[in-house]
Amino acid sequence: MIYIVVVYIRSSTPNSKGKETMAKEGYNPFKMAQQQFDRIADMLNLDGPTRDLLRNPLREYHVAIPIKMDDGKIRIFRGFRIQHNDALGPCKGGIRFHPQETADTVRALSMWMTWKCSVANIPLGGAKGGIICDPHNLSENEQERLCRGWIRQVCRDIGPVRDVPAPDVMTNSQHMLWMMDEYQTIVGGQYPGIITGKPVALGGSLGRTEATGYGLIYQLREVLKQMDMDITKTKASIEGFGNVAQYAAELFIDYGGTVVCVSCWDQKEGRAYSYYKEDGINMEELRKITDRFGTIDKQKAEKLGYKAMAGSEWLKHDVEVLIPAALENSITKDNVKEIKPGVKIIIGGANGPITPEAEDVLTKNGVAVIPDFLANAGGVVCSYFEQVQSNQNYYWTKEEVLGKLDNKMTDAFYKVWELAQRKKVRISDAAYMIAIQRVAEACKLRGWV
Ligand code: GLU
Repeated sequence: MIYIVVVYIRSSTPNSKGKETMAKEGYNPFKMAQQQFDRIADMLNLDGPTRDLLRNPLREYHVAIPIKMDDGKIRIFRGFRIQHNDALGPCKGGIRFHPQETADTVRALSMWMTWKCSVANIPLGGAKGGIICDPHNLSENEQERLCRGWIRQVCRDIGPVRDVPAPDVMTNSQHMLWMMDEYQTIVGGQYPGIITGKPVALGGSLGRTEATGYGLIYQLREVLKQMDMDITKTKASIEGFGNVAQYAAELFIDYGGTVVCVSCWDQKEGRAYSYYKEDGINMEELRKITDRFGTIDKQKAEKLGYKAMAGSEWLKHDVEVLIPAALENSITKDNVKEIKPGVKIIIGGANGPITPEAEDVLTKNGVAVIPDFLANAGGVVCSYFEQVQSNQNYYWTKEEVLGKLDNKMTDAFYKVWELAQRKKVRISDAAYMIAIQRVAEACKLRGWV
């Protein structure tokens, strides 16, 4: 028996800024995720009930979170936890802070988490959470109350054996720790496995911070080998300069590659910038002038010789590799034609950065597109390692964690790559086929469909 629970609590104060509307007019990530699913369901010949089950989330929680602000006023925030599927194991997925968060974005992201855990071959399902807010405008204390408030609303429906949150866009290890503490206070016990991405001093895993960016580069290393390309002669341009982008750039440079451009959102100016340096960025100097949200100080960057360009310029450089590692809906049918013919590989760091129409064009142009849910699975794979360590209360060395991560990412990549070659399908189709097939089989074995 499958329960589909929709808990909907309407906020008593309407959001005056109207920020609940879609981030970009006409773009609906959930519709896109369903289209992607339908295409593969056809290829796999999935039966009707399995399709019905997998193209929608199993459970959704929509919550209102009343918070006492620093000025003494009460503000009601809206939050979500959406559990797409738990046939393979407890639900897993991040919790985002974003002013334009919508239920459909969280639905799409929860579905992508299911495929991500499945293609990475870890025993977890898919979920995602979100709170409509802009942490730039919240004090530390307000953020803490928001984290605790969200947990108070969803604590009955998550847990180490049900659904385990983690950091995502604009959330970090401190947020995870407040959430863990609130959960433990409510249930009355030490359950470090309730959440991942915690600080290492309190149940976090070594290597978790690096995991998503490093995992992506482990796979890029293998793609380059398969395409007979020398990493030391390869240039990359990266969209974003948050956690994923920074660690991807770090390892790519360590392997001998050159990153000529990174981009970021400039909160002060309310626009994005790309920072370009022909002979390659220097991570150490850029980190020193970057805030905790990944915003690079423009003036300081220019002094260091970086050319500040419009945010959209990041994909127009003469490079072999593009890494969209910011937000969803980044490479679309409108800007895909601006990508230079020398680009050979696009590897997804963000969730949902390439629309299906853009991928069609890229595939026709012979670009190897490594899908986001395969390439950025390193975060959740390391979260899985963190969960295992937290549940056992026994912690591994960083070398052990990163070694296991490399093995998992490399194995997942080759399963997909081999299937794509064998069936002569695009890489993302092969990844979806493996992921969806595993979840469909788990649902069948459980007797759900
Ligand atoms: N937020 C990350 C993702 O989208 C990690 C999720 C997790 O570790 O559970 O993959």
